[in-house]
Amino acid sequence: MMRWNADQKALREGLRHWHEALSAGHIERDAAAAFPYEQWKLIQRTGILGLPFDEQWGGLGQSLLTTMYVLEELGAGCRDGGLNFSVATHMVSVGVPLQRFGSPALKQRYLPGICSGGTIGAHAITEPESGSDALAMRTTATREGEDFVLRGGKCFVSNGPVADVFVVYARTHPDGGPLGITAFLVERDTPGLTVGAPVGKMGLRTSPLGDLYFDDCRIPASAVVGRIGSGFLVLDHVMKWEILCSFVINAGQMGHRLERCVEHARTRTQFGRPIGANQAVAHRIVDMRTGLETARKWLYDTARRLTDGENVTTDVATSKLLTSESNVASAQAAVQIFGGQGYLTECGLEKDLRDATASTLYSGTSEIQRNRIASMLGL
Ligand SMILES: Cc1cc2nc3c(=O)[nH]c(=O)nc-3n(C[C@H](O)[C@H](O)[C@H](O)COP(=O)(O)OP(=O)(O)OC[C@H]3O[C@@H](n4cnc5c(N)ncnc54)[C@H](O)[C@@H]3O)c2cc1C
Repeated sequence: MMRWNADQKALREGLRHWHEALSAGHIERDAAAAFPYEQWKLIQRTGILGLPFDEQWGGLGQSLLTTMYVLEELGAGCRDGGLNFSVATHMVSVGVPLQRFGSPALKQRYLPGICSGGTIGAHAITEPESGSDALAMRTTATREGEDFVLRGGKCFVSNGPVADVFVVYARTHPDGGPLGITAFLVERDTPGLTVGAPVGKMGLRTSPLGDLYFDDCRIPASAVVGRIGSGFLVLDHVMKWEILCSFVINAGQMGHRLERCVEHARTRTQFGRPIGANQAVAHRIVDMRTGLETARKWLYDTARRLTDGENVTTDVATSKLLTSESNVASAQAAVQIFGGQGYLTECGLEKDLRDATASTLYSGTSEIQRNRIASMLGL
């Protein structure tokens, strides 16, 4: 059981008065499938984008656990799931690797914009031929004098269509396996980089996603994040943060959904009594709560152990698997509990289900998480 101090609670509560403005028009924005620039400006004003980054760059210097505690509140209060996803992606894709592995020059140049949100971040790992098998990536970065030249392409880049900077993972050694990958900071207007238009998708529609193409895209060697050949280490660190930060937002969303369902089960009357008086409905709600509480415990416990320097590879996989699958189950249960109303766009719950469906895919699919856990069991 996590215990939060007064400062942590104040940070979390400070976000509450932004909830209404952040959520306003979220159903219409989902239908428009456009990045909500106006709400992004509000997000900038909340200060949450700088939560885990050092104060010298304009951040709030908070721990991973405090960052998660505040992000859970964002998930609970901001009904725009796409915007929430873009916030987590922005924070972890560029800021997290720069803070841990970036050179002083890279930090100085990019972290202030990442903390304020004036510079939007994204990261590019997935390629058309390498998704789950990310290390099979084919995009190359070839050393030419003082520069590297990127050739290839990436897909599924969240925030890609609106991002100003990307952390791009590319192969610097043809046979190097994991040690042949390097992370690079690439600015959007770099000659040779083409950013594709947003690609239509099932959910998270206000978080645009697209392709990147690198056609002799020349970047200075100073844009390497970490060391040449350390891209796998950078990605491993980033994926841990990505899972903990974006899935604690899912936990917040599940908490809000649970409250709505309890309220509805108490107030919707059929056959002369509240629908929640039926065990079939009440048990569905209990399952939602059990999924949420288990996910929360795993997420925060894993974050605490990561902070303590423990090996949490399997715990991260378990947290991700549990939270995403509980999220989908809870979103589906909510539609059922609301009956026909739950199926209507105006109710917001069908959007929740479409958004939740992505969570068993991004950051490593459920199957890949199960493979990781199986391999820890020696299978
Ligand atoms: C909303 C969203 C946002 C994303 N954002 C980003 C981003 O910002 N940056 C980025 O680089 N990528 C991003 N991705 C891409 C994401 O990481 C990949 O979609 C994911 O890793 C799966 O790869 P794939 O889609 O190529 O599926 P595939 O790898 O082709 O898998 C297809 C199916 O086969 C299963 N499968 C594959 N291999 C195995 C195996 N060994 N054992 C069992 N089952 C297996 C998978 O689990 C899946 O069910 C995003 C994806 C989504 C949906």
